[in-house]
Amino acid sequence: MDTIKENLAQVHEVIETSCKKAGRNPKEVTLLAVSKTKPMELLKEAYDAGERYFGENYVQELTEKIRTVEEDAAFSSMQDISWHMIGHLQRNKVKYIVDKVALIHSVDSMRLAEQIEQDAGKKAVTANILLEVNIAGEESKWGFTAGEALEAAIAIAKDSPHITVKGFMTSAPYTEDPESNRVHFKALKRLFEETKEALKKQDAAYAEAFDTLSMGMTGDYAVAIEEGATMVRVGTGVFGARDYSK
Ligand SMILES: *Cc1c(COP(=O)(O)O)cnc(C)c1O
Repeated sequence: MDTIKENLAQVHEVIETSCKKAGRNPKEVTLLAVSKTKPMELLKEAYDAGERYFGENYVQELTEKIRTVEEDAAFSSMQDISWHMIGHLQRNKVKYIVDKVALIHSVDSMRLAEQIEQDAGKKAVTANILLEVNIAGEESKWGFTAGEALEAAIAIAKDSPHITVKGFMTSAPYTEDPESNRVHFKALKRLFEETKEALKKQDAAYAEAFDTLSMGMTGDYAVAIEEGATMVRVGTGVFGARDYSK
């Protein structure tokens, strides 16, 4: 019955172990429970077990869940959830979420960043974003190339008063062997540090805000933490397998 609670305890244990192995403080790593396709009842189970950070991939599902928390008495205890957008975001949908999420992980183009700046300005909010980096150079993946990401971070930080560039996100290749992604996590961590240095030369405040490295999913988050992840996005490991047939 308490499966989600048990899953969460297990994930937190892995986070602790990986941090210990890497000489890191577990407080540096935030677990983002990826709840896409999962019903509110299961989110509530995770919430009641102490989870506060939830990641969603689809704008409509995300906004519906936020509305449910606001309007449905059964879920009214969940007001302090930190909602994160982690899926590919179309420019015409930015306006629906820009003032509702704590962080957009999936900013994959300059045009999307410009749209976020515009919509955040209209709503008089500051949007926290991560730049999605296609660190393994996969054909099929969204995101900035490793070569573009540093310049993009600087350009967006300088040109967008309604955006705070918080860091980088990546989805490493799907693999059965998490060790095979270590090289990609290492590469993104290095790029992250280089970018932070470059931001510092522009403005110390840019570098200070640049503190989030979102990498690692159910299959590989232990390795991602060892290589410097500050946020891991775990779906299956918390909620079980997803069923897309419904
Ligand atoms: C679905 C998803 C996750 C979670 O994947 P699991 O393998 O279920 O942990 C993490 N990040 C992104 C971008 C996703 O789309």
